[in-house]
Amino acid sequence: MTLPNFAYFEGKIVPYSEAKVGVMTHALNYGTAAFAGVRAYWNDQEEELFVFRPMDHFRRFLQSAQLLLMDVELTPENLTEITVELMQKENHREDVYIRPLVYKSDELVGVRLHDLSSEITIFSVPFGKYVSNDTGAHVTFSSWRRVDDNMIPARGKIAGAYVNTAFIKTDAIRAGFDEALVLNVDGHISEGSAENVFMLRDGVIYTPRITDNILEGITRRTIIELAREELGYEVVERSIDRTEIYLCDEFFMTGTAAQVTAVTMVDHRPIGNGEMGPVAAQLRELYMDAVRGKLEKYRHWNQPVYAKLAVS
Ligand code: PMP
Repeated sequence: MTLPNFAYFEGKIVPYSEAKVGVMTHALNYGTAAFAGVRAYWNDQEEELFVFRPMDHFRRFLQSAQLLLMDVELTPENLTEITVELMQKENHREDVYIRPLVYKSDELVGVRLHDLSSEITIFSVPFGKYVSNDTGAHVTFSSWRRVDDNMIPARGKIAGAYVNTAFIKTDAIRAGFDEALVLNVDGHISEGSAENVFMLRDGVIYTPRITDNILEGITRRTIIELAREELGYEVVERSIDRTEIYLCDEFFMTGTAAQVTAVTMVDHRPIGNGEMGPVAAQLRELYMDAVRGKLEKYRHWNQPVYAKLAVS
């Protein structure tokens, strides 16, 4: 992967080569960090780069920091401004992935959350597809279980918890699948390795509740709104059984990286007729228009980088 030219590090934007931490850093040893994953999309017509829903990403980022007992003085507005400045400095003219990270920065030995300092860093890299087969993914149910809220809260994007994700993802890829679905300890589906999930059954869209050990996805929220407002679907948040997915009409996954990925096969069982369905196809199109700033009604989601426009 190409390295960034710059990074926000210890309060200022510096050359990427200067953004370094010592090996004793608490977060590196114990996973005591939280992160966000944001995308910015290049709009060729307007010659503009739009960061997608940065305020929502930074609100969740600060909540993750709060769970880890980190005192962050920056607001979502401050973090959005820093991100815009970093994008301008990088002079990106293509789709990029932005990674804000807040980490326990003390160099000391001792596992705990309290009485530690934290720092924030942000960097960005050009980024295309995350799931290559995103119109016809074949996924498997992982033999791993999702971390429970009383183990490491899934609603926080906590670095250490992503070791769970790494086990899930690697086993699925090595077994020849495109992605994995993960069950809660109670046996209901929580989400994909790094995606929320949606199922269409008898004309209704279902997605697991936020109390089912999911990350409260920004893309999930976006898709719920687009499905209700633009396509007129009823979207119900409730627990979903494994075998409901085997029998459903359409299944798709959503995430900043995965965008809207249609799943056409689960554990060698075709979903519906085994091809991407019309609901997933329509939502993919709406979502890609929204992120690039092509839907006037949702322009408040798009933070322009090169124009000095305010965003709500
Ligand atoms: N679940 C997990 C575990 C994730 O890592 C992600 C990616 N951030 C998502 C869901 C999707 O969240 P979002 O739409 O906010 O990117």
